[in-house]
Amino acid sequence: MTPLAGWPRVCYTLAKMSVLPLETGITYGPIRSRRVGLSLGVNLLPTRYKLCSFDCVYCHYGRTHVKRLSADPRDLPLSREVLRAVRAALRKYPRVDTITFSGNGEPTLHPAFPKIAAAVAKLRDEIAPNVKLALFSNATTAHRESVREALPLFDLPMLKLDAGDPHTLAAINRPAPEVSWESIVAGLRQVPNLVIQSVLIDGDVSNVKGATFEAWVDALAQINPARVQIYSTDYPVPESGVERVLPYELKRIAEIVEECTGLQIDALWF
Ligand code: SF4
Repeated sequence: MTPLAGWPRVCYTLAKMSVLPLETGITYGPIRSRRVGLSLGVNLLPTRYKLCSFDCVYCHYGRTHVKRLSADPRDLPLSREVLRAVRAALRKYPRVDTITFSGNGEPTLHPAFPKIAAAVAKLRDEIAPNVKLALFSNATTAHRESVREALPLFDLPMLKLDAGDPHTLAAINRPAPEVSWESIVAGLRQVPNLVIQSVLIDGDVSNVKGATFEAWVDALAQINPARVQIYSTDYPVPESGVERVLPYELKRIAEIVEECTGLQIDALWF
C-alpha cells in the first residue's frame, strides 16, 4: 500500500529559509486557521525559547531550543496571568470561533495545564459560551492521567500522530529521550472524542510510502479516533529535503485510509 508510487509528482521541496518568529505573549492572533476557524491563540510556553518534547522536521517555529518532557515553571506564565490575558483578548475580539491552546511548543508541558484549562473553560462559559475550546498537542503527555482528565474540557482535542512506528517517530518528530512511541499510542487510545492530526511529508523522510505508511494506517485503526485530519506543510521549515504532499495526493490518501480503516479522514489544505 504505497499511495504515491508511480504518480506523476511535482517535486516541491520546501525552502530552508527563515521560520516564523516565536509568539511574544500569552495570547496571539486572532488568526484564520484551516482547522479551527478564527482562532485566538493561547501560549502557555516561554516567550524566549521554544519548549517542546518534539523537534519536528517541518516545525514552522524552527528547531526546538529546549527539548524535554518537563518545563521550568520560572519561565512560564502563572494561571492568573493566563486568565487575565484571555479575558482581555475575548473582550477585544468577541467574534472569534475558538480559543486555541498552542503556542511556542507543547502546551501540556505547563505543570498547571489541567488547572488552567479548567479555568479558561469556565471563563469561556461565562463570557463567550459560543466560542469553542481547542487544543493542539503532540500527544507525548497523553499517557499522563492529569492531562487526560483535562482533555474532555476541550471541544476539539487535536493530538498529533505522524508516525506508525518508533523509527519514523525518531526521523520526523525527533522526540526527547523520555518519549516513547508506545506510550503515545497507549495515551491516544484512551482519549474520548479524539481528533488525530497527521502531517504527511515526503522527501528525505517520508510517512507516505511503503512500510511506514502501512504502520501509520495500522496505528490509526488501533487508536480508533473520532476523526482524522491529514494535511501537509506550507510554511518555511527548518530542514532542507522536506517535500510537501500535494492536495490531490492528500485526497487520494484520505480515500485509501477510509477504505482500509472505516475511519473518517479529512484531507485539508489551503
Ligand atoms: S510538536 Fe508542534 S511545536 Fe513541537 S516541534 Fe512539532 S510542530 Fe513544532
